[in-house]
Amino acid sequence: MKIVELGESALKKGRDLAIENKKFLDTKGVFAFDVMGSVGSGKTSIIKWLVRKLKGDYKIGVIAGDLTTEVDALRIEEEGVPVVQAHTGRVCHLDPGLVRTAIENLPLDDIDVLFIENVGNLICPAAVPIGVHKEMVVTSVTEGPYMIKKHPYMFQRADYVAINKIDLQKAMNVSVHGLEEDLRELNPNAIVIGTNGITGEGVDKLIQCMSFQQ
Ligand code: MG
Ligand code: ZN
Repeated sequence: MKIVELGESALKKGRDLAIENKKFLDTKGVFAFDVMGSVGSGKTSIIKWLVRKLKGDYKIGVIAGDLTTEVDALRIEEEGVPVVQAHTGRVCHLDPGLVRTAIENLPLDDIDVLFIENVGNLICPAAVPIGVHKEMVVTSVTEGPYMIKKHPYMFQRADYVAINKIDLQKAMNVSVHGLEEDLRELNPNAIVIGTNGITGEGVDKLIQCMSFQQ
């Protein structure tokens, strides 16, 4: 019997495409972030705040990944920066081929910093690199006390972790401090900031810790 598996060859092909994406962005002078996190963690809200606060200093572009809708892309477009919507259909993560097409649809000569909002999911985006310079995870206290512990692969690779919805710590009986301790065990080097995606609290602090060039 013949057995075929996704296996190493497909994964390697994906990794090669991701490396090519990053090289392509480098030739265009674009520094890119993959913004990942669960459905409803506040990825779009945090990206909106980042764009709002950074657009005076950098030329920003955004790719919004979603299955079939444009709601997030429309919210970000309100900030007046170029946005491309990447539709994945039934697929639960962005893949580097789709990201490449989305990148090529942006005015790259007018972009220094690119935020790519991945599909809401803490599992497969950790296994599918898309070709960026830095990875950010937005998680939130409303996801309960074990979200970080249960998704080690995602959090091990993150450069930045925003723990969002800090205003709901009491209501949820989940502390930012506890989540931060879980993260430290997995990834002592990540930068962790508590944020509020409604008011923008914490976003300035996050920006102070971020780098926007190699
Ligand atoms: Mg979103
Ligand atoms: Zn997936």
